Amino acid sequence: MKFKYIVVGAGIAGLVMAERIANELKSDVLVIEKRKHIGGNCYDYYDESGILIHKYGPHIFHTNYKKAWDYLSKFTEWNYYQHRVLTYIDGNYIPMPITTETINNLYNLNLSNNEVEDFLKEQAINISEIKNSEDVVLSKAGRDIYEKFFENYTKKQWDVYPNELDKSVISRIPVRYNKDTRYFTDRYQGIPKYGYTKMCENIIDNPKVHILFNTDYKDIINDIEHEYLIYTGPVDYYFDYKHGNLMYRSVKFELETLDIESYQETSVINYPNDYDFTRVTEYKKLTGQKTNKTTIAREYPTWDGEPYYPVPQNDYLEQYYKYKKEADLIKNVFFIGRLAEYQYYNIDKVVLNAMDLFENKIRRVK
Ligand code: FAD
Ligand code: UDP
Repeated sequence: MKFKYIVVGAGIAGLVMAERIANELKSDVLVIEKRKHIGGNCYDYYDESGILIHKYGPHIFHTNYKKAWDYLSKFTEWNYYQHRVLTYIDGNYIPMPITTETINNLYNLNLSNNEVEDFLKEQAINISEIKNSEDVVLSKAGRDIYEKFFENYTKKQWDVYPNELDKSVISRIPVRYNKDTRYFTDRYQGIPKYGYTKMCENIIDNPKVHILFNTDYKDIINDIEHEYLIYTGPVDYYFDYKHGNLMYRSVKFELETLDIESYQETSVINYPNDYDFTRVTEYKKLTGQKTNKTTIAREYPTWDGEPYYPVPQNDYLEQYYKYKKEADLIKNVFFIGRLAEYQYYNIDKVVLNAMDLFENKIRRVK
């Protein structure tokens, strides 16, 4: 077999690359995927009750990058969903992230936005250099908020407390002095109207894209003559773990279909301090589907299972840079995506990086 371009992984990164190569360079491209489906961790499917399930956890697309939004909009219409999350604290459901509504609900107050700003600034601890994720919260909202909302959720999610995690992790969650309770405030937000899998099918709707499922690329790569490899799997696996195993946090999803129309008030509820799961997603609330049953997923973080989250801790990041240094020296292999770049990327950044890699490198080596 002979292909000029091979892509490893049929997740968003791999599919965007395959689409660009097929449509822009008019070249055939082989995608090798070890799972039995496309979409990577964005994959969704309809369960027996007809409810669209995000197999690898709830995925809400949100971005300020118009380029990423415009690109995906060529392949899907959108359900203009805006995400809202509640957090279960001491028997009450409190809006998350931290806003005026959170403070008023939590402490049973009726403060204005300005008063909440003063309140939080009073609670905040003065930290001269923000070194980790604990510092992020303590410096913005103080110890009580930290302990109630972040400390135990983070321990469940990452198996370490926030003081051992890079500041970028909890910086994902804002503190706002207003009543905007949306989880994200990006300009463009939504969920593909007919699902992520359908959107992914549309992305590679070109006979020049060939896919091999259920195949680990290492089993066949030496049998396929090729010039360029685009690799989206775990970077340590590519190098046979020569600098040691990188850590990836995984999640076990416990699905349950219930004979009731609605299970909870909003699509996602976080449980920082109760139970072993971190959050519960009720899928139909993401899609707006009308059915008389409902399916929920409880998320149990674990070290076993598929690699989902690169762990933003200094030791692993240093280890990753050893791999990156080597990766940068290989001229005909390109590393892209959440696993190959070992970065806690959302979908939009993965799309953007793949588009940029195509423009700046792949197109030029043509
Ligand atoms: P992946 O989706 O991991 O794809 C990599 C592919 O490569 C996989 O299909 C894998 O099977 C394949 N592969 C790996 N090794 C090999 C091999 N040796 N041979 C062949 N194939 C191989 N982002 C958002 O923007 N919004 C969200 O709400 C959101 N929620 C998330 C919730 C969870 C629980 C998780 C885990 C992630 C979430 N994300 C979210 C992030 C999003 O999933 C990723 O940014 C995106 O899917 C990464 O795409 P990718 O192609 O880089 O990687
Ligand atoms: N987090 C937390 N409590 C929450 C929500 C988030 O402590 O109720 C922290 C936790 O460390 C989590 C990180 O903030 O891993 C990022 O949260 P996000 O919701 O972005 O996580 P994801 O959807 O990527 O799993």
